[in-house]
Amino acid sequence: MSDANSCLFYQSRTPRPFLDYGEGIYLFDETGKRYIDGSSGAMVSNIGHSNPRVLAKMKAQMDKATFGYRLHFRTHPSEDLAAKTVAMTPEGLDRVFFVSGGSEAVESAVKLARQYAVTQGQSSRHRVISRFPSYHGCTFGALDLTGYDPLREPFAPMLEGMPKVAAPATYLDRDDLSEEERGLKYAELLRDRILEEGPENVLAFLMEPVGGASTGALVAPDSYYGRVREICDEFGVLLIYDEVMTGAGRTGKFLAAEHWGITPDIVAMSKGFGAGYAPLGAIVASARLVEPVLDAGGFLHGFTYAGNPLACSAGLAVLEELEDQGLIGNAAKMGEVLMAGLRELMDRYPFIGDVRGKGLLTAFEFVSDRATLAPLPPSLDAHARLVELAYERGLIIYSRRTRGGTAGDHFLIAPPLIITEAQIGDIMAILRDALDAFAKEAGL
Ligand code: PLP
Repeated sequence: MSDANSCLFYQSRTPRPFLDYGEGIYLFDETGKRYIDGSSGAMVSNIGHSNPRVLAKMKAQMDKATFGYRLHFRTHPSEDLAAKTVAMTPEGLDRVFFVSGGSEAVESAVKLARQYAVTQGQSSRHRVISRFPSYHGCTFGALDLTGYDPLREPFAPMLEGMPKVAAPATYLDRDDLSEEERGLKYAELLRDRILEEGPENVLAFLMEPVGGASTGALVAPDSYYGRVREICDEFGVLLIYDEVMTGAGRTGKFLAAEHWGITPDIVAMSKGFGAGYAPLGAIVASARLVEPVLDAGGFLHGFTYAGNPLACSAGLAVLEELEDQGLIGNAAKMGEVLMAGLRELMDRYPFIGDVRGKGLLTAFEFVSDRATLAPLPPSLDAHARLVELAYERGLIIYSRRTRGGTAGDHFLIAPPLIITEAQIGDIMAILRDALDAFAKEAGL
């Protein structure tokens, strides 16, 4: 649907009001209506809106230079942001390459992996295994790694068709295994797939440590993470974590990888890294990978805007705010409060079949039957309806059809990391009201 009053075209969607301004966890439209940004936009605005420190730092940089091409000048914001990023990431990840968004970060991670393999005389390694469902971006390379059918279908003939293994959606499993055994079972799918592809052909395994929009904050059993690392090591397959959504503190650690003590070979970040103040992302990799690539003539990759000083000044102020305001710890603490609230919703509404997440990346999923976890009928258009009912009541949440786009409706609740307990109470009150309205109109 396009709006007759606008030349812009996006995905079809409900007409929206004009945004006026943002403040903390709130956004205000031009009529003065206030919205709680319960999903930080698209899980972006980690430190809230209009943060004075970030704005001041960006203004100071604007007064000096908004752009200086990286091949012509070093800049303090980019050097300082790289150093700060390395200081905040686990040991072993010590080289940074900037980009302007999540798809660019994923593309960059895969291309670095490939160039590294070539320097090691392993040119046959070119297959990248990822998971189904998953979301890794919309550019051709990232789309090929994305396990979300509706987004891929029109472009399928133009994609190589990279291999996928099932994401560990253990909440759907009806076997007698323990959670730990299930985690190992899903990790073995990766091993099987590597053997099927031929280990000499497999370059990397790409995964979201906590799923984002495609799975609805899916967290694997603890056993999965370590076993996946072992399997990658066994076959010399590089492990790439897509932390575009989970990075920069969202799950209660700077990187979600830290929850399981995993050091991936390459990490892709964006979203919360620029936190909505500038289009910004990064890959962070170990020098072990980067140095051979540089020695062989350099990374054959780069985007014009990558590492520009204005975006980097924003990113630096964002990381300083995360640290100085203790926001990562707050994400862990408030995540527990939020999860307790979601569990209460599950007690109250029989059509909520699962709640899950880590830190302030949480989700609940609708079902028609808790025993089978069968989804609600698509005719209810539940994922779109609840979003609208919440929006009308001044709460922004994020939803998707889940399980690869074929079934189910999930809703992401992922407010800015500055959120307080009282504000989570406000989110819950609106959610209850919206869910009551949904239950009534759906006859549930
Ligand atoms: N990877 C993950 C896990 C994401 O959630 C997203 C965006 O939602 C991307 C990659 C792509 O990021 P972008 O939309 O900034 O290109």
